[in-house]
Amino acid sequence: MITARGLTKRYGSTVAVDDLSFDVQDGVVTGFLGPNGAGKSTTMRMIIGLDHPTDGTVAIDGTPYRDLRWPLREVGALLDAKAVHPGRSARSHLRAIALANKIPLARVDEVLDIVGLTAVAGRKVGKFSLGMSQRLGIAGALLGDPKVLLFDEPVNGLDPEGIAWVRQLLKGLAAEGRTIFLSSHLMSEMAQTATDLVVIGRGRLIADTTVEDFVSSHTVPTVEVRSADQVALADALRATGAEVAPAADDALSVTKVDAPRIGEVALAAGIALHELTPVRASLEEVFMEMTSDAQEYATSAPITEDPA
Ligand code: ADP
Repeated sequence: MITARGLTKRYGSTVAVDDLSFDVQDGVVTGFLGPNGAGKSTTMRMIIGLDHPTDGTVAIDGTPYRDLRWPLREVGALLDAKAVHPGRSARSHLRAIALANKIPLARVDEVLDIVGLTAVAGRKVGKFSLGMSQRLGIAGALLGDPKVLLFDEPVNGLDPEGIAWVRQLLKGLAAEGRTIFLSSHLMSEMAQTATDLVVIGRGRLIADTTVEDFVSSHTVPTVEVRSADQVALADALRATGAEVAPAADDALSVTKVDAPRIGEVALAAGIALHELTPVRASLEEVFMEMTSDAQEYATSAPITEDPA
């Protein structure tokens, strides 16, 4: 488990991480979401001791990273896949890490096999594609067989097959009881991989919950309806307290009553239903809405002087 309490990091006048408290549980994949510049990388660097908090604490199973006896055997991290000596082969890169951390060298071939790099293990890392570098980074994170794993944008540069492979790998590692903390800007991928979520904006906590709760608690249940007589059905639904609005392709978008009730109203009015679909907002839609303040800040156009 990763425990952050009042975690804060200032760079001069910039507050990169602002009084963050959250827990990352064992046995599930926890997604770490936030717009660009929200403080995700800074938080991850503080978890593994690459940055010192200005204030607050973060611990791995109760122990700060710097106090762990064999850190790589307890926490594995992929933060920057390209941060590898380009002249080394994949195998010699991993062997150097293994030697420095008293990890048996046999483990090097094991992790090369897990990430599918056995055939290119002797090739210079400088010649690797971004996708291959990601796989090597994942191999490095797995090397010490750690219980806690951090992945910052692990699927960057991977093809769809590679992305699906990472998803299965992370879920499998979580199922073994490990703690998996994953950042990604690919929302649909996150929705398929993570069970829990930590969402931040401008360094502050926005949500610490499950993906399911995050989506359902910030959306209005809506049903899309098509029928033989949309006008008559809309009138009948409104008469029962529903809110009805036109949707794409002549569908009706109905809120305030659920799908079974809509079916009953249609039956009572003698109108044949052609479609009755509960619509679920996507993680991306909810995320965009919840972080719109922080997004606006990040993407707003510079203010220009009026020439007149
Ligand atoms: P994210 O990973 O969510 O994109 P970061 O943690 O990289 O966000 O950055 C958070 C904020 O801290 C940004 O405003 C960024 O410019 C600032 N920041 C990050 N690292 C440094 C640094 N070494 N020096 C100064 N400012 C930094």
